[in-house]
Amino acid sequence: MGSLFATESINGQVIVYSRYCPFKPIKLAVIGAGNVGASTAYALMLSGLAAEIVIIDVNQSKAEGEAMDISHAVPLSSQTRVYAGGYRDLYDAAVVIVTAGVNQKPGQTRLELLQANANIFQKIIPEVAYHAPKTTLLIATNPVDVLTYVAYKLSGFPSHRVIGSGTVLDSARLQTEVGAMFDVNPRSVNAFVIGEHGDSEVVPWSLATIQGMRLRDFCNGADIPYEEKSVRACATRTKTAAYEIIKRKGVTDFAIASALTTIVRAIVRNEDSLLTVSRVGTYAGVEDVCLSVPARVNSKGARTLSRLILEPEEEEALRSSALQIKEAINSLMDPMQTS
Ligand code: NAD
Repeated sequence: MGSLFATESINGQVIVYSRYCPFKPIKLAVIGAGNVGASTAYALMLSGLAAEIVIIDVNQSKAEGEAMDISHAVPLSSQTRVYAGGYRDLYDAAVVIVTAGVNQKPGQTRLELLQANANIFQKIIPEVAYHAPKTTLLIATNPVDVLTYVAYKLSGFPSHRVIGSGTVLDSARLQTEVGAMFDVNPRSVNAFVIGEHGDSEVVPWSLATIQGMRLRDFCNGADIPYEEKSVRACATRTKTAAYEIIKRKGVTDFAIASALTTIVRAIVRNEDSLLTVSRVGTYAGVEDVCLSVPARVNSKGARTLSRLILEPEEEEALRSSALQIKEAINSLMDPMQTS
């Protein structure tokens, strides 16, 4: 009779799992137990996607407090082992979500956060790459596009296994705005944001539909006036949403937690979902930059499927966004010596 257990070794650490369980139970890790990290760990626990969630923070006591609090919701929600841990616990994590960093202050742009958070990444990412060489990195820390690029360089992982949350959140915000404007469920709105998660983000209105109907056609069919200015205002409100929320509650956390859970679900369930995650590539003629366009997300990570066919002004706006991110990346590269 064969052994009841199978073993695997990663970096000298032996992992034992039961042969009765045909799949390895899914472990997820959240680095950074602040507002975003704690909300994300909670959303992940509620989702039931993982058998284990490990939370890591330089502030060990904060990580422990969040893990205890979330654990107490387990009997009322979804069976998950939630605990505070260290980098050694990452060896079999399917996805490592990085939310650690300095938070955006009122009036501060995401790019201003860059240097402080890049320094923090120099401590975190090499540890993750060493302890979890097969994992997929999912970055949320802002400015997320530049830091996804930094994580790509520091980890040495292939680009499809280094994903930024990108404009998944912005796209949900846009769908909320357009849904409210046309009085339809935002899930029926197929509109999305591309480019930077930030001030240079772009809404490709030429591709926006409500259940396959272009917005102008939807209005014609519904006998309601199509007002270009009001529609465009949805993009402005999407872009300024984070500033408005931060002005009122100091942070944004719930919606990004849901966006991260959506991306994790696409990975661990091998969904092939098209999501506007951020990844390294060539966009609008700008090489070796990191930004969002719809990409296929599955258990192998994220890959861009097809080139977006945009109107000339949308292509130009995407190029301008790519150039701004590239400039921020270049401002970092020499001091960081990551290239
Ligand atoms: P926060 O200050 O509440 O939490 C940050 C946590 O990171 C803290 O608990 C801190 O102890 C921890 N930390 C700092 N250095 C660390 C290190 N070296 N190792 C491990 N942990 C470390 O901030 P927050 O509100 O949770 O926001 C976190 C980040 O997420 C910010 O950069 C914010 O701008 C970003 N964010 C991104 C999006 C998005 O759409 N991508 C949305 C909201 C917030």
